[in-house]
Amino acid sequence: MERSGIPVLLGIPFDGQSSYLRGAGDAPPKIREALRCDASNSWSELGVDLGVSGVYEDTGDLELDIPGSRKNGETRGTPASGATAWSTPAAREITEKVFANIEMGVSHLLQRGRRPVSLGGDHSITYPIVKAVARRYPDLTIFHFDAHPDLYDEFEGNRLSHACPFARIMEAGLAKRLVQVGIRTINRHQREQVHKFGVEVVEMRDLPAYSKLKATGPVYITFDMDVLDPAFAPGISHREAGGMSVREAIAHLHAIEGEIVGTDVVEYNPVRDVDGMTATVAAKILKEILGKMIGNSDLCNRKAGTQSSPRRWLRPHRKSGVSSTIGGRGVLGL
Ligand code: MN
Ligand code: MN
Repeated sequence: MERSGIPVLLGIPFDGQSSYLRGAGDAPPKIREALRCDASNSWSELGVDLGVSGVYEDTGDLELDIPGSRKNGETRGTPASGATAWSTPAAREITEKVFANIEMGVSHLLQRGRRPVSLGGDHSITYPIVKAVARRYPDLTIFHFDAHPDLYDEFEGNRLSHACPFARIMEAGLAKRLVQVGIRTINRHQREQVHKFGVEVVEMRDLPAYSKLKATGPVYITFDMDVLDPAFAPGISHREAGGMSVREAIAHLHAIEGEIVGTDVVEYNPVRDVDGMTATVAAKILKEILGKMIGNSDLCNRKAGTQSSPRRWLRPHRKSGVSSTIGGRGVLGL
């Protein structure tokens, strides 16, 4: 079995489970645009050239038919009426269909030996993504960057909210370890959830946490943009002061050790952005994660416990893959 392969961008334009504001569903094309912007070059800081054909692919955005979301008259960037609306049986049914589509889309990529790189979307999407990833990699370690633990058993009556995905993931036994970094909003209930599920939390005030980011076996990285201080990333729904600088986040991403089998970058909200600055930051984060994934491709194809030469991956081979960009919406047609 191919352990892991080429990273593939997959946009997931869903913000139907965002409790406070809509808008994150518009993020995927804006992050792509920033990633390819000529204002920067295509090299990651660790020396991987993302401009080399075939080092990653882009399969476009998942096509999601969401009758209860913005298409149903809700304006982008407006307060989400979802707290109650999305806890109704009808809304739950819609969400379950969307989640099934997400899970299927990610499974499809995994079956093709690819590594999913999902662009959110609100953080609720990580639950169906991880369901698919954990089916292939049952001993998963999740490295979770966020201001919020997202561990609510339910949020305003809604168990599928973007405030809950890690409660769902942990109660389903989908991760061997969940390591949360940058947390600064933990309350009594979520502290109880941390103990219940054995979550390893590194709160913002206790950073840096480089030594916590070492794993044996497959690693999934989920990066909520609000882990960053809103001074660096205002384009998010939940601005929580006192967060990471972009440099601190990159330093922690660079410190990760393990086989990165998938990732997501979520909660960028273009409606709240200032002159596209946060899109640029999201693209930078994405570039560094992609660089790590491409950089340790060689490592991924080895048996655990062996070491690859650290410099072998600096120049990816041109012959290693197919053309990098497919683009467009709904390529998967799910
Ligand atoms: Mn989150
Ligand atoms: Mn958050």
